[in-house]
Amino acid sequence: MDYQKILEDIYKEIIPFAKTGKQADYIPALAKVNPDQFGMCLETVSGEVFPFMQADTRFSIQSITKVFALAMCLSLKGENLWKRVGKEPSGTAFNSLVQLEVEKGIPRNPFINAGAIVLADILLTELDDPENEYLAFVRSLCGNDSVGYNMEVAFSEREKGYLNAAIANMLKYHGTIDNDIEDVLMFYFKMCSVEMNCRELARAFLSFTNSRVFYHSGYRLSSSQIKRMNAVMQTCGFYDEAGEFSYLVGLPGKSGVGGGIVAIYPMRYAVAVWSPRLNSKGNSVMGIKALELLTTATQESIF
Ligand code: GLN
Repeated sequence: MDYQKILEDIYKEIIPFAKTGKQADYIPALAKVNPDQFGMCLETVSGEVFPFMQADTRFSIQSITKVFALAMCLSLKGENLWKRVGKEPSGTAFNSLVQLEVEKGIPRNPFINAGAIVLADILLTELDDPENEYLAFVRSLCGNDSVGYNMEVAFSEREKGYLNAAIANMLKYHGTIDNDIEDVLMFYFKMCSVEMNCRELARAFLSFTNSRVFYHSGYRLSSSQIKRMNAVMQTCGFYDEAGEFSYLVGLPGKSGVGGGIVAIYPMRYAVAVWSPRLNSKGNSVMGIKALELLTTATQESIF
């Protein structure tokens, strides 16, 4: 398959959407990002890499980080993880508080903020040096030791993080998190602040294509666990747009408000796309369009 040519053709088709939506501005540091950027990279399980445009420009991965956190937690806790967090699609926004109150502090899934804040709490409890061990894990996945946190973004999010603080308080009230609220929030924001580019994200997500043994900086996942992670990405990776993404793209994936999206074609490839302008659900407008056209042009999807 000539993926390079396909990516070039896709870009020409999505140019009309280049000014649709705007970058996340509820995190002040992200409001400063130039919204008119686009990058993409597809890597196959056999090691062919197809970078396109700004494939090497790093950006804030934001909620894409939740996939890495889930992988670590699943490796550490196994099936017991699901006592702390559910695995049902929420049908609500990523930062919604309503459902969490009704469901007595058990988040619907690990990819909404409430769920990922629980993952942060688990890692704080389980790891001796959470910040460094988390980074070591992500670096091992993408094969680049220069990947790191952006503390300006993390502190900027903390400063305006009223809603996530409310979520953390609700979790604490119901006894779902064990650690100090401030510690949990700060670790969650740091995980979200990790910066990577499309090339690194595609490489990192190759480990979730189930085409190889998963063993990274001491963490193991069985192929059955990876299959289940893909199931959660498919059903919950795009919050209240998960159905739409399944319908348009037909691959498991995960988005972030930095404008990144990563999708997986099991046993075949991982693809990352980045464009900061978001739709009302917090997902990249051009990113979704590009992936829709990719699976349409290649006729490759899980369905
Ligand atoms: N750090 C962001 C937040 O908690 C992550 C949200 C996202 O990328 N959808 O709001």
